[in-house]
Amino acid sequence: MAKILIVDDSRTSRKILRGMLEEAGHTIVGEAVNGEEGVAQYKSLKPDLVTLDVTMPVMDGIECLKQIKAESSDAKVVMVTAAGQKSKMMEAISNGADEFVSKPFDADKLKSIISKVVG
Ligand SMILES: [Mg+2]
Repeated sequence: MAKILIVDDSRTSRKILRGMLEEAGHTIVGEAVNGEEGVAQYKSLKPDLVTLDVTMPVMDGIECLKQIKAESSDAKVVMVTAAGQKSKMMEAISNGADEFVSKPFDADKLKSIISKVVG
């Protein structure tokens, strides 16, 4: 089971993700509310995987992804997207994102994507 860092500005999304991931047997090692905090927590916590929201204040998910990958090129990152973010998805893929989950979350889909990425 994986040690996971959740990066999302929405309290509700963080709560739902935590619940679903813990239910699947994973450990949430941290929660960050924007990209800047996400990078800092990634460096200190060294999680197995990061769930990374695309749209956030201060620093968005794309910039956060770039900085995490610069820190550790083998970092496992699952992007969290909303409807209508296809260009952001393409940008995330070109910057090394491993997978995507879309809001609203589906517990079974989330579970299978996370286990696929952490292998
Ligand atoms: Mg957001």
